[in-house]
Amino acid sequence: MRSSFEPVIGLEIHCQLLTASKIFCGCSTAYGVPPNASVCPVCLGLPGALPVLNRKAVEYAVRAAHALGCTVQQTSTFARKNYFYADLPKGYQISQYDRPLATGGTVTFQGEGGTTRVGITRVHMEEDAGKSLHEGFADSDRRTYLDFNRSGVPLIEIVTDPDLRSAAGAADFFARLRAILVAIGVNDGNMEEGSLRCDANVSIRPAGSTSLGVKVELKNLNSFRHVQRAVEFEIARQTELVLAGSQVEHETRLWDPSTGRTVSMRGKEDAHDYRYFPEPDLPPLVLDPEWIDTVRKELPELPDARRQRFVKQYGLPEYDATVLTASRELGDYFEAVALASGNPKASSNWVMGALAARMNELGIGIGDVTLTPEALAGLIRLIDAGTISGPVTKAVFEKMYDTGRPAQQIVEEEGLSRIDDAPAIAAAVQAVLDANPAAVAQYRAGKGQTLGFLVGQVMKATKGKANPALVNETLRRLLSGDAG
Ligand code: ADP
Ligand code: ZN
Ligand code: MG
Repeated sequence: MRSSFEPVIGLEIHCQLLTASKIFCGCSTAYGVPPNASVCPVCLGLPGALPVLNRKAVEYAVRAAHALGCTVQQTSTFARKNYFYADLPKGYQISQYDRPLATGGTVTFQGEGGTTRVGITRVHMEEDAGKSLHEGFADSDRRTYLDFNRSGVPLIEIVTDPDLRSAAGAADFFARLRAILVAIGVNDGNMEEGSLRCDANVSIRPAGSTSLGVKVELKNLNSFRHVQRAVEFEIARQTELVLAGSQVEHETRLWDPSTGRTVSMRGKEDAHDYRYFPEPDLPPLVLDPEWIDTVRKELPELPDARRQRFVKQYGLPEYDATVLTASRELGDYFEAVALASGNPKASSNWVMGALAARMNELGIGIGDVTLTPEALAGLIRLIDAGTISGPVTKAVFEKMYDTGRPAQQIVEEEGLSRIDDAPAIAAAVQAVLDANPAAVAQYRAGKGQTLGFLVGQVMKATKGKANPALVNETLRRLLSGDAG
């Protein structure tokens, strides 16, 4: 029985820090420049070149550590992690090891199953490696090309405790983590460019057990969907193995999105012995406790705090607040609409409804939306003032989006204002009654539902502009034979 096993998942996330230059040299970190355009003796690992730690990278790392609730250590150290690979010219990666920058954090967020708490084991600084290009060249069948632009790009590695219990939960957490890192301005969230990468560690254990099972590490999952699918596959694979009486092997596996399977990359026997030792060219990183505290105090509002504020300040339902704080831009857009319109709930409805539908249709993000928050607020104010109503509002929204004209102008130029004029409505109602004697007879014979049909006819005749409440009232009055 599948349900008698509990999945256990811990993530290791590599996050590129948004500094202009690399972690130990002045080379640019710009993405998309020609191969090997941003290199120097330090990041190429040439003999005698000395690393100098990038202050901005330290600040960003400390900021991220605070945002994840970690304790930032006053003293941390760098080590050499030795392994041989073509894209690692020094033969070792400089990384923090036994004394990492920060430890002991927690990330809390609202998910589908309520509150989730994930412990953060550690956050440490390290440099990225170069990139091996195995395809794209005429002689790619014989040669591997190397691009060292990434070599020495500053990273933090964030290691979570094994606190996640489902594939969806792991993907959700990764998304929340991304939102936090982007919100505090240390990462651009661009997973396609490799700015944020995730390894997932997965094991299963009998339900109720508190010890940990043998884990498998899934490497380089670069989207939320890949995290979810790879972990899902891995849980099923391990469950089947155990049910068949075999054991899960401690190994590293690769996710293949094209087949939807994980394949073995290396077993425990091939596990690297990195022969870590202290980096002799870098002194311990010693931070001033006051500076550590200053960085914490300067943290911008985090997504979860913002979600809570949206509920409190704007009276939004939890659901709306969760959706609207999924990204900083979306939250900013909503807040601008809410403040300019004075009607937060209507603002939320328009942003999550018609605007989201439009974005979906166009395949764009909130950053590409051309409709300004002020313009949307203008529409909401017209509705709240009773100038337009019901069916017309959606049409004005679409016109506004397509033309960029303000709602007020569209309403005026196209004569879309709500009809509140009692004689005009009475005339429209009378015309509908005259044209539909059968429906009138049915209503008078006690078929109350017929009223809805008649209301619909009046709204149609007035192109959706009639005040619906007034139409209802007038219909009832005229049908009951009271000529008013
Ligand atoms: P390793 O020594 O293999 O690097 P760590 O103890 O450093 O393992 O943990 C690495 C990651 O694996 C962490 O995110 C941790 O939460 C997770 N992890 C550790 N043990 C397990 C397990 N049995 N099942 C799932 N995840 C685990
Ligand atoms: Zn360099
Ligand atoms: Mg480890």
